[in-house]
Amino acid sequence: MGNTPIQDGLLQRLFLTPEALARYPAPKQDEALPHQLIVLGETKAGRVLQATSDTVQHWTDMRRAAQQDGIQLEVRSAFRSYDYQHQLIARKLDRGEPPNQILQVVALPGYSEHHTGYALDIVTPDHPELTEDFELSAGFAWLSQSAHEFGFSLSYPRDNPWGFIYEPWHWCFKPA
Ligand SMILES: [Zn+2]
Repeated sequence: MGNTPIQDGLLQRLFLTPEALARYPAPKQDEALPHQLIVLGETKAGRVLQATSDTVQHWTDMRRAAQQDGIQLEVRSAFRSYDYQHQLIARKLDRGEPPNQILQVVALPGYSEHHTGYALDIVTPDHPELTEDFELSAGFAWLSQSAHEFGFSLSYPRDNPWGFIYEPWHWCFKPA
């Protein structure tokens, strides 16, 4: 199976055997190369957000179009390295969150669409949290209607085959 981006110890901490990993339902995702990434902006907390240049270009067009319709779109998370994904999971384990719950909300390192630099977690000022009720926001209604015009689509709808929770905030740009 070649080398895995999952660092030693993480599978054990998640109680995942190699057999369970082989059955992991999400596809592997390549990590964007540094030269493919450009700065998209930063979070309120000052963390720099990066995505591929075509994603940033289409995001910029989409944000502007939404703004013209009175919708303020913001990105909460964009590119994430394998290493960052590992830290995300490790932090949740350190906080005592149950492994099966973690696996529903965070993809294993190597399996998150955020590695590709094409996926964006998008929110609005009135719904800044990554929670399911984002689907009730005007921002989600706008995205549902218009995001496809800019090449973005919802990756994890309700009852998706990957076993992930419904993520109305997670949109992925597909290069033509
Ligand atoms: Zn996401």
